[in-house]
Amino acid sequence: MEFITVQEAIEKGKGKVHLRGWVYRERKSNAFAFIVLRDRTSIIQCVVKKEKVSPKLWEQAESVLIESAVELSGTLKEDKRAPTGFEVEVDDFKLVHKAERFPITKDQSTEDLLDKRHLWIRSRELTTVWKVKAEVLKACRDYFATKGYFEVTPPIITGSSCEGGSTLFHIDYFGEDAFLSQSAQLYLEAMIFSLEKVWALTPSFRAEPSKTNRHLTEYWHLEGEEAWMDFEGLVEFEQGLITAICQHVAKHCREELKLLGRDYRDIEKIKAPFPRITYTEAIKMLHKDGIDIPWGKDLRTIEEEALVKHYDKPLWVTGYPKEIKAFYMKDDPDDPRVVKCCDVLAPEGFGEIIGSSERETDVNILIEKLKKAGEKIEHYDWYLDLRRYGSVPHSGFGLGIERVVRWICKLDSIRDAIPFPRTIKRSTP
Ligand code: ATP
Ligand code: MG
Repeated sequence: MEFITVQEAIEKGKGKVHLRGWVYRERKSNAFAFIVLRDRTSIIQCVVKKEKVSPKLWEQAESVLIESAVELSGTLKEDKRAPTGFEVEVDDFKLVHKAERFPITKDQSTEDLLDKRHLWIRSRELTTVWKVKAEVLKACRDYFATKGYFEVTPPIITGSSCEGGSTLFHIDYFGEDAFLSQSAQLYLEAMIFSLEKVWALTPSFRAEPSKTNRHLTEYWHLEGEEAWMDFEGLVEFEQGLITAICQHVAKHCREELKLLGRDYRDIEKIKAPFPRITYTEAIKMLHKDGIDIPWGKDLRTIEEEALVKHYDKPLWVTGYPKEIKAFYMKDDPDDPRVVKCCDVLAPEGFGEIIGSSERETDVNILIEKLKKAGEKIEHYDWYLDLRRYGSVPHSGFGLGIERVVRWICKLDSIRDAIPFPRTIKRSTP
C-alpha cells in the first residue's frame, strides 16, 4: 500500500490508510497508546490498542516520544473528539526513529524558542506560516510572468551602496572593501537596458541598529524595474501586485489563515484601487490628529500607524521630500520640494511593505544629488554610465517579503515570517 498524506486520509474518511510522519503528541495508558501524527499537511489521532497488536509492536508504540518518526497502517473512523475529527486504529506500526526527549516544552521564553529555532520551525504555527509564504512567493512570480517580466540574478557582494552607508554590512573582499547588498535596484536598473522588464528575489542585508518587530538584518527582497514605465504606471503595477498576492492567498490558504487567527476575508477584501495620499496631505492629516510633525521629516512608525488607522486597505503615500529620499528618485516637476516616489503602508499598523519611485534619468542631476549626499562620484561611475548610453524613463520598487507575510499572517514579530531570523542580536542557529 502507498503512503498517503494526513490530509488525504482525512478527506478519505474511512478504510485502510498507510501514513508516515512525526509524533505531534502522545498519551499512553496500560491498554492504549494515543499518538497524534503530524505530517506536512495536518495532524490526525492514531490509537494503538495493546490487545490488538503484537507485544513487539506494543513495546515500540509505548516507547515513542514527541517528534519520533513513525510509519503506520490502520483503519480510519470518524471521531468527533479527535483533533481533526478522525482516528486511525493502528494495526501495524514502525518506529523509524525514536526521538530523544524533545527540548521544547510549554511556556518557553521567546529567546529559548529562538535558540531552538531549528526544531521550533516544525511547530504547527510556523509550518503554517511557511505554507502561506510559499503561496505569497508563487503569487508574485505568477504576477511578474503575466506582465512579461524576466527573472534575473543580481549580485549579493557589491562595491557600491544604495540605501546609505549606516546600515551596510562591510566585508573584507581579498583586502578590498565590499558590502552585502541592501538592494538589487542599481543592478536591476542596469538590466532593463537589455530586458526592459526585470525582477529579482534576493536576500537584502541591513545592519539595522535597533530592535523592532519589523526589521531583520537579512530579509527577502522582491524588486522589479521596468523601462519606459512612468510613475502612474508604477503605482498601477504595485496595486496589481498587492491585489494578486492577497487574492491568491485568500483563495488558497483559507485553512492556514484560520489557524493563524487571521480571517481570510480581511485579505480577500484587499483589491485595487487603493487609497492614495501625498506626503503633504499625510502631514496635514497627522496635524489634525494632534501629532506634531514638521513638513520635511520622515514618517516614523508612530506616524505611519496614525495614518493607516483611517483606512482598512494598504495606503499609497506619494511625493516625499527629496531630502529624506534616495538620490536616484526623480524630482517632481510640479513640486520641486518632492520626488516621484511612493511608499506603501500595510493596514493595521504592520508598516511599510513597498518603497518605490520613478528614477532620475539625467546624469548631471544624479551627479549633483550624489555630491549633495556626500557620496564619492567614482563609486557610482558604472551606474552613471546607464544615463550616458540610451537613458530612458523607468521606474521600480522593492517589496519586503517578510513584511507582507507578517501582515497577511497577522504575526506579532517579523521574526516569525522567516525560518532562521537574523537580527541585531542573533545570527544562529
Ligand atoms: P523602513 O523605513 O521600514 O526601515 P526602508 O525605507 O528602509 O524601510 P526600503 O529601503 O524602501 O525600506 O526597502 C524596500 C522594502 O524592503 C521596504 O518597503 C520593506 O518592505 C522592506 N524592508 C526594508 N528594510 C527591512 C528590514 N530591515 N527587514 C525586513 N524588511 C525590510
Ligand atoms: Mg530602513
